[in-house]
Order: sequence, then C-alpha cells, then structure tokens
Amino acid sequence: MKNRIVLLIVVSVALLASCTNIREKTEAMEVFNINTEVAESAIKRILEENSVTDTIALYAGVNQVAQQWKMKNGTADEFVEFCSSNYASTPELRRELFNKLSVAFETIWGGYNKMHVELKKPMHLDGDPLTQADYIFGAYDPSSHLSEDLYNNKIAFMTILNFPFYTLKEKEERGDSWSRLEWAYARLGDIFTPDPPAKVKQMVADAEATAEGYIADYNIMMGHLLAEDGRKLFPEEMVLLSHWNLRDEIKSNYANVPNNLEKQRMILKVMLHIVEQTIPKNVINNSSYDWKPYSNTIIVDGKESETTPEGARRYEVLLNQFRAQQEVDKYSFAYPDAISRAFDGAMQIRVEDIEQMFTEYVSSPKVAKVAEMISKRLGRELEPFDIWYDGFKSRSSISEEALSAKTKSLYPDAQAFDKAIPMMLRRFGFPAEKAEELGGAIVVEAARGSGHAWGASSREDMARLRTRLSKGGMDYKGFNIAVHELGHNVEQTISLRDVDYYLLNGVPNTAFTEANAFVFQKRDLQLLGYSNSDPEQAKMTELDIFWGSYEIMGVALVDINVWRWMYANPDADANMLKEAVINIAKDIWNKYYKPVLGGEDLPLLAIYSHMINTPLYLANYPLGHIIEYQLEKFYQGKDWAKEVMRIYSIGSVAPQKWMMEAVGEKISTRPMLED
Ligand SMILES: [Zn+2]
Repeated sequence: MKNRIVLLIVVSVALLASCTNIREKTEAMEVFNINTEVAESAIKRILEENSVTDTIALYAGVNQVAQQWKMKNGTADEFVEFCSSNYASTPELRRELFNKLSVAFETIWGGYNKMHVELKKPMHLDGDPLTQADYIFGAYDPSSHLSEDLYNNKIAFMTILNFPFYTLKEKEERGDSWSRLEWAYARLGDIFTPDPPAKVKQMVADAEATAEGYIADYNIMMGHLLAEDGRKLFPEEMVLLSHWNLRDEIKSNYANVPNNLEKQRMILKVMLHIVEQTIPKNVINNSSYDWKPYSNTIIVDGKESETTPEGARRYEVLLNQFRAQQEVDKYSFAYPDAISRAFDGAMQIRVEDIEQMFTEYVSSPKVAKVAEMISKRLGRELEPFDIWYDGFKSRSSISEEALSAKTKSLYPDAQAFDKAIPMMLRRFGFPAEKAEELGGAIVVEAARGSGHAWGASSREDMARLRTRLSKGGMDYKGFNIAVHELGHNVEQTISLRDVDYYLLNGVPNTAFTEANAFVFQKRDLQLLGYSNSDPEQAKMTELDIFWGSYEIMGVALVDINVWRWMYANPDADANMLKEAVINIAKDIWNKYYKPVLGGEDLPLLAIYSHMINTPLYLANYPLGHIIEYQLEKFYQGKDWAKEVMRIYSIGSVAPQKWMMEAVGEKISTRPMLED
C-alpha cells in the first residue's frame, strides 16, 4: 500500500514536471523573435535581389511580418529566407498573387458562410421544437481555427508581406490617388492584423462578461418604490432593467395614464441615483425593501432606515474593461488605444470627425425649435426626462387593420413574398432585368425569431431574408420590417456581385447598410399600391429620428470623453472615475441640454448601460440615419433605384471616400438639420 502511494507521487510529480515543460515550451514558441536588425537585413536582401518599385510597401510589408512572426513560425534566418522568396517583386507578380488570394478567400469565406447558414437553420427558421443538437450546432463556429491555420501555413505572412496594412490616416491621405485595384490591395492588408495572445483575449472576454452580468442583473423593483407620502405609483410586480426598461417606462407614460408625470419624475430620480451610485445596494435586483428615491431611505420593518449606497461598483466594472483594453494596446501597433480601435478601426471614421458632427448637431438651433413643438404638444414646459419624448409616432391615414388585411392576403407565406420580390423592385423603379436578377439572388424564409437579412460571402451564393409570419400570413408590421430587410439584402447582393473586386465587397460599416434598409422601409406603402408615403407620417418619422439622434449623440459624446479621461488618468481608481464620469456628463448636459430641457448639473446622459457593457459603440446608432438623410437628399428628383445600383457597387472603400463618390460630399449632419 505504502509503495503504491510513493509510486503514485512519483508518477504525478513526473507528470507535473512534464506538464510545466510542455507549457514552458509552448510559451517559448509564442515569443516574437524578429528584431529590427533582422527585418532590416531581409529588406536589404530583397533590394539586392530585385528592382523594387514600391519601397514604402516593401518596408511596411517586411516590418509588419516581423511584428507578427513568432518563434513557432521559424528562426531569424528562416524569416529572412521567407521574405526573400515570397516577395512579389514586380507589379505582374503582385497582381498574380492578389488574384490567387482573392479566389482562395472567396472560396474559404463563402464555404464557411454556407456551413454557418446550414448549421444554424434549425435555430433561425420556423420549424420543429429545438433539440440539444440544434443548440450545439447553433453555437458552433466551424471557422474558429481558420486564422490560426493561415498563420501556420504562412498564407497570412505571404499576404502581409505583399499587401501590408494601412491605418485609416494612411488610407485617407493616400487613398484618393489609389486605383480601385490599389484599394483592393489595401483591403487585403486589413485581413491579418495582429491578434493579442489568448490570455489577453481571455481578459477582455472576462471583463466583458462581468460587465454583461452586472448590467443584465440590474433590475429595479418598481412596485417597491414609494413617493414621499408612502404611495406606490407602479404596479406591484413591475420589474425594470436599467436603463432600457426604465427609459421605455418614461416613454410609455406620455400616454394619458394616471400619475404619468409623477412617474416620469420618479424614474429620472432613480436614474440619477444609479449614475451617482447613491442607490441603496439592497434595492438593486432585490424586492425585500421598499425605497423612497427622493429622501433615499429604505423601509425596514415598517421604519425608514439609512442605507448603504452601491458606492462605485458601476465604475469598477467600467475600469475593469479599460484595464483589459490597456493590455490589448500592447499588441495593437496600428490602433494603439481602444478609442482608435473603435473609431479608426471598426467604424473607419476618425473620432474627431464624429465629435465635430455630433457637436454641430446637438448645438444646432433646430433643437430648440423641435423642443418648442414638443412643449406645445405636451402643454407644459419641458423637463429633463423629455429627452425621451415619444409622441412623434407616425400614424398612417390608412388604418393598420386595412393594411394588415392586404398584406396577409398578398403574403400568406414566405414563398409568396419571395416570388413577389422582382415585382416589388420594379415598382421601386429597378429595371426589369435587374429586378429579376436580384429576386433570384434573395431567398425568403420564415424566421423562428424576429428575422434578419443574412448576406452571402461568395458571388454564387444567395442572400437570405428571414421574416416572421403571424398566423394567417404577414401582418403589416411584419411586412414593414420585411421591406427593411429587403433593403439590406439588395445592398448585400449589389455590393457583392456588382463590385469590380471581390475584396472590395460590402459597405464601409453597418451604418451604410442600415441607410439603405431605412430608404426601402420608408417606401413600403408604394409596394402595396398606394401612390406614395403619407407626407404627414413621413414628417412625424423625421421628427422622431431627429429627437432620438439628439439624445443618443449626447450619450456618445459622454462615452468618448470618459475613455479619453481614463487614458489620461490610467492610475485612477473607481471613485475617481465616478467623479470624472459625473463631471463629464454634467458638463455636456449644461452645454447642450440644459438650455432646452432645463436641469442644472444633471449627469443623466451617463445612464446608458452600453457605456458599461459595450463601450465606444453608441456612435454607430445615429450614423445610419445621418447617412440615410444624405442619400435621401441626393435621391430627390433622381431615379433613386438607379442611384442605389450605382452607389452600392462602390464597395468597401473608406467611409468618407464612399460618401464622396456616392453623393459628392463627406458624411455630414447638415441635410438632417436643414429639413
Ligand atoms: Zn437593419
């Protein structure tokens, strides 16, 4: 017995030792092993062996390969050898490599996309009850090892060497003189940018998951809120998630319901407690206590009692996100901080451009004019929560029942909508042949959930329009959304099939496809045989978008400035961050919102949950509408279907260049402000 134990210990010590060994070896293989001298020597060798025409690209290519080359990819000598033998030294060789990579990537991405589509069908399409296997395949990503494979077989390095990455700044400076082919080369350079190591990615994922969990569990028990005189204003069982449900409850109280104003004011007070973290810890997600938000006391055993505030947890969670991004910074040579990754990288618009646009908008005199209209409609002075005014909802002159009766008889199932696409596109003014071609490239399927538009990734594949059908066919709400999705599918198909180079397929960012979806959706009545959209309804929709953009742009400005502050104060703790967020939010409120809505020093704009769980994303929301407005203005008096075909075949160049080519000016809020 004793012997066996000794033996076991010996074996496990040996196992432990070999495990550490393997780990050490694996870690050693992950070390970057090419210094600048080695990179220089590779460049020197290439220059000696060839007559290089584009030395800027050569330096960029070799240096970028060096930045990403690890011990496991080869020794320093092997690196030099690789660069020398894989450098496409003439324009002809470079073009030949480009063609090969282009065909290969279309094959790979197109194939993976088809696998995704097929494996997720049970999850996405209306059908039998889901089984465990459906859930597993639904979550499975067959392409998750693709990037690793392409680094291992050195296709990634071959691509980087010959088609280096350019930052947004470089693309904007040099891109105007680039040919379409050179733009396609530059897009090839965007594919293999450095990835942080797995442990850093894990840090980011953990920080995001913590934030997600924090936000997802932040419910306010509305039935336990008390006015100072002890009355309960909200239904006993009402539970609202911050901030979305709280905001929506403010919105729904614009209807003529009892105590509406009192309820809206109380929700505002609750929101401020959340931002300032004075909210009692034990009223969050907890229905054991009644809470008086005005005196900020809770009721314990029938008596008012002082309470422990949440403190700074909200900002601790945000700080945690910041710390994870700081780790990513170390591996991100192109975009060295989270702000530039979100704007220059993902959106491809400089943060200064966004700030300038948003500031121009929120400080426009038009805001006061719209505010005056709202005040008149409400019959009172505006209050700060009216930032969520919801009364500009369009009401069509045709009743929704009549419209639904029509859509249900026209579209009893998904197939009927599918068949009708060419006819609908002809009604929009697309030439018959193009309408037929687009109809053939889009498949309509009945969705299990709310529906979506899923584009193809290769030119011979189809785009998919998933739409929800209610009993007895498509009701008008469903039809209206399906026309929105059709706008996406038409964009997806044109920007894939009609773009000259596969690598330029698509649009610069999601706002550009949203814009076309809005353009289609707005014209849905035309498709039902009504002459045109109701002008009164269109005006209401515009005002609604205008006011919504005013609100969200302020929130986005707070978000941006908070991240700037964190980078300027990297050693700050959660309490300092709390003070900073409150001050930034107050400052923006006082400048652009107080003049219209009142309320001195209100940090209300910091209430958005996105700031905590998906920071630096908010600016994307208003952008789709800004672009839509510019396009609509441009379409006026023109054959808009023809323009859609031209504009969406520009493909994925930089956003500002796309806009210049599309409508002759950069992205701007002016058309929106002028109307
Ligand atoms: Zn959409």
